[in-house]
Amino acid sequence: MYYSREYQQEDTIITINGERIGDGNPHFIMGPCAVESYDQTSIVAEKMAQKGVRLLRGGAFKPRTSPYDFQGLGVKGLQILSRVAREQGMAVITEILSVDQLDEALPFVDVVQIGSRNMHHFPLLKALGRTNKPILLKRGLSATIEEFKLAAEYILAEGNKNVILCERGIRTYETATRNTLDISAVPILKQETHLPVIVDVTHSAGRKDILTAMAKAAIAVGADGVMAEVHPNPAKALSDSKQQMDLYEFDCFMDEIRKIVR
Ligand code: PEP
Ligand code: MN
Repeated sequence: MYYSREYQQEDTIITINGERIGDGNPHFIMGPCAVESYDQTSIVAEKMAQKGVRLLRGGAFKPRTSPYDFQGLGVKGLQILSRVAREQGMAVITEILSVDQLDEALPFVDVVQIGSRNMHHFPLLKALGRTNKPILLKRGLSATIEEFKLAAEYILAEGNKNVILCERGIRTYETATRNTLDISAVPILKQETHLPVIVDVTHSAGRKDILTAMAKAAIAVGADGVMAEVHPNPAKALSDSKQQMDLYEFDCFMDEIRKIVR
């Protein structure tokens, strides 16, 4: 398998906007759940810049559980995201949902996110495998580690070697969190693959009072980075309003994390 340590012993390092993901230091991917407006996105990005975070996430095509919920701004959202990223010197990480969105979306995107619901979307994985864009592949809602690795293999086998794995919690019987963060997946994936592994604490927890502790745990077990959502006014957010940090919470989160890493 291309993902395996047998195929490649040394860690894959993927350089995005000067950040070497997989180099042994934790990197941070932050931003709103969804791009809602220029102001909303740029307020968050400005705060991120102050905190030295240079990888901006935000959804323009949103894979919502209900078809009646906000579906994202589409290409207009991508335009906002890339304008804000340019203004703040950041890279854009955003989800693409389908093969037919690739042509219009790719020019705006530095890292393509494949969402949890699309981890098994093999035609999309294959199509992205034929590009040279870095891919952030999220673990499926109920995927085993084996299935997760094989989804990555779909991309790698087509020739794209720039794959970042993202543990984002899995569905269990537990209801105290939205998903159960499978912290053991991090050292297992680091052992069995050479790919960078990051942890999305926001979608794992589905609540924000435990994000700092979860991020510290992720770093302690060897994650190459942490993803979390930040919104200027979470209560008014058009998606994931319960779990996004506000600017003050983000400030405290980063300060706490910087106590244990550079
Ligand atoms: C996201 O990160 O925007 C998202 C929808 O997460 P997930 O695919 O992990 O549910
Ligand atoms: Mn979200």
